[in-house]
Amino acid sequence: MAKKKGGSYRIKFLMIITYLCAGLIPLFLFTAVVFKTTENYFIEEKKKELLNQANIFSGHITISGYLKNEDMRHAFDRDIELTSEQGGFRIIVTDDMGVVIEDSNGTDNGKTIIIPEIVEALETKDVAREQESGDIYVVTSIVDESGKKAGTVLIIYKPEDIHAMIAGIRKPVYIMTILISCIVLTFVLVLSHTITGPLSKLMEVIRNISEGHFDERMPVDENSDNEIMQVGAAVNNMAEKLEEVETSRQHFVSNVSHELKTPLSSIKVLSESILLDSEAPKETYIEFLKDINSEVDRMTEIINDLLTLVKLDQKEIPVTFNQESLNSVIEDIVKRLRPLADNKNIDFEYTAVKEVNAEIDRTKFTLAVSNLVENGIKYTDEGGKVKVVLDCDHQNAFITVSDTGIGMAEEELSKIFQRFYRIDKTRNRETGGTGLGLSITHSTVLMHNGSIKVTSRENEGTTFVVRIPLIHNM
Ligand code: ADP
Repeated sequence: MAKKKGGSYRIKFLMIITYLCAGLIPLFLFTAVVFKTTENYFIEEKKKELLNQANIFSGHITISGYLKNEDMRHAFDRDIELTSEQGGFRIIVTDDMGVVIEDSNGTDNGKTIIIPEIVEALETKDVAREQESGDIYVVTSIVDESGKKAGTVLIIYKPEDIHAMIAGIRKPVYIMTILISCIVLTFVLVLSHTITGPLSKLMEVIRNISEGHFDERMPVDENSDNEIMQVGAAVNNMAEKLEEVETSRQHFVSNVSHELKTPLSSIKVLSESILLDSEAPKETYIEFLKDINSEVDRMTEIINDLLTLVKLDQKEIPVTFNQESLNSVIEDIVKRLRPLADNKNIDFEYTAVKEVNAEIDRTKFTLAVSNLVENGIKYTDEGGKVKVVLDCDHQNAFITVSDTGIGMAEEELSKIFQRFYRIDKTRNRETGGTGLGLSITHSTVLMHNGSIKVTSRENEGTTFVVRIPLIHNM
């Protein structure tokens, strides 16, 4: 349980972090930058305005000859004080040595002020500069009639009203930003919950499946195009396949046990009856031992077939594909099985339409085709016919094995390649066989990247067509 929650919490945590990084932080940064830019804009505008003001003053001072004319002075002092009051700034007028002639505050009169701004205004040009304290210093030079710089006008402005104005807007904007953030955060939380909810369920289902509960399913809406639902559907699909594999494995095991149990019980019954009847004649012993021997043969046959199948199933077993003449492979098979056909008086015919070379694993492929031919002979009554035809086109080789035997019903055809599957009527007739032959053939043909098709009619005969590519592409 803890693990499960841990998983979904991690996703929630990731989503919140993503939201913080991609949403909140840039939002706050943006707001801060906007405020700074606005503040700078107002300060620059203020500087221009103050420079203008200072220039007007300088002009007035020059025109009025204020620096020289003592009579004008009183009226002008009044003017400076008024302007300073109205504008909310301090005005200082100095001579060309930095000595204060008039200070609107009245505090620095007669003092010498040497600041870089005054020096700069006297030497080069007018300045407007923000100080570290935040104050704005604006200095313009006063030019006398001869064009010489005779003094400066210094305006000192404390931009508190600008700060107050910005602070006034900042508060509602920040409240708004926080409000938006909260709404988005709630949205992200709800969203992450709607994602992690099904995800947690999915993880639980996968965990249960991996613990062996193959019947576990994720509830999904098949029509949904939601990715999690699609993963859920894929998991369900996988679980279904696992269930099928598990069922077939169980069938397989029970089939193997059943198949081995039958000869074992016969051996047990046979050996017990000999043991119990100590007086039995030698012929009876021999007969019973023959029966036991044939049961052992049958068990060996089953086990050999099983081993072959298991080996075929293990993909890692070495398979050696060589260029072989299929004509020679099939001739060998025909030669080997002809006595069997002759025994039943079966007309056994082999036709090679062309010379066919293909890349095959000779041993395995021989076994696969032999099974088909053996079945043909086995399930065909005396006097019937079994025909093998070898042909090819540009890409594939075709081996057709047809017989005029007992045939199979349509509904059996899809099952005969299953392990241990035998059609009952043939089973009853005790034709022998393990029910594994066609499985082996099927697996081998698939291993050669080929296919196998069967057509059959009851009491008319059966045809198997094997197709394999001439060149084996891995
Ligand atoms: P078996 O060892 O029983 O022959 P196979 O796997 O080779 O097992 O075949 C499975 C079943 O398919 C057989 O039991 C038989 O009923 C049926 N079968 C296979 N080949 C033929 C055939 N040529 N004609 C009729 N029935 C066949």
